[in-house]
Amino acid sequence: MFLKGKTAIVTGSTSGIGLACARALASEGANVVLNGFGDPGEIEAIRAELEAASGGTVRYNGADLTKAEAIAALMAEADDLGGADILINNAGMQHVAPVDQFPVEKWDLILALNLSAVFHTTRLALPGMKAKGWGRVINTASAHSLVASPNKSAYVAAKHGVAGFTKAVALEAAQSGVTVNCISPGYVWTPLVENQIPDTMKARNLTREQVVNDVLLAAQPTKQFVTVDQVAALALFLCKDEAASITGTNICMDGGWTAQ
Ligand code: NAD
Repeated sequence: MFLKGKTAIVTGSTSGIGLACARALASEGANVVLNGFGDPGEIEAIRAELEAASGGTVRYNGADLTKAEAIAALMAEADDLGGADILINNAGMQHVAPVDQFPVEKWDLILALNLSAVFHTTRLALPGMKAKGWGRVINTASAHSLVASPNKSAYVAAKHGVAGFTKAVALEAAQSGVTVNCISPGYVWTPLVENQIPDTMKARNLTREQVVNDVLLAAQPTKQFVTVDQVAALALFLCKDEAASITGTNICMDGGWTAQ
């Protein structure tokens, strides 16, 4: 249990990649602050399960990360646990539409959640990490932080932004024991992927099977979805002391997508 006594805030951890990361951190003894939307009963069950696994404290804060005041309250949730030692910026959303038909409010929401929230959580977590001389900021970016796909302009713009932000903050924190990195998965089988299938079917006039095989996995040379547990295992490695020299990187876990 190498994270005993450490506290992690994982945004968007009621589902998918974030939940797998929270589970992995709790299994190594970390205190965890969960965040995200969902059914209160299911979230409480997750919280209790993780707390039992961790042996520490696991809390839930349902902050809507598109709102800066709510982010401040989320970060304060870790104050009496010594503040955040590990910050996993993972919450994200997608909307699929050609740019000239892209709903303006969706653009604003995606930029707020996928990019600006990463700025707000990081700016609030960094002073405490620097004071302790140890910290880990791990941003779930995407293969779309490096390459583009049509009809995802807001998502691609936000994720490219996250990759750039990661580099800048890594340089600022380089001498303080705090590392700042991105993990960039290809297609991971989660509700986020499931939910964009109907929109892609409509936008490109395709069947469900065609979207899965010819659109989603078309870009992924392994023809396998990445799993949430693979992403979580990498996040856990970045928290180890052996990973102290990994900073400012954008680590791809994309089945070879961005090698093409
Ligand atoms: P998911 O839909 O399973 O989980 C998203 C999480 O974010 C949920 O907990 C949800 O409640 C939370 N969330 C959504 N809006 C929120 C808001 N306004 N405030 C707070 N929380 C909010 O998605 P996922 O696939 O696990 O995605 C997690 C991250 O991984 C995202 O940043 C996504 O862009 C990135 N990613 C996913 C894939 C993939 O194929 N699934 C690939 C590359 C990158």
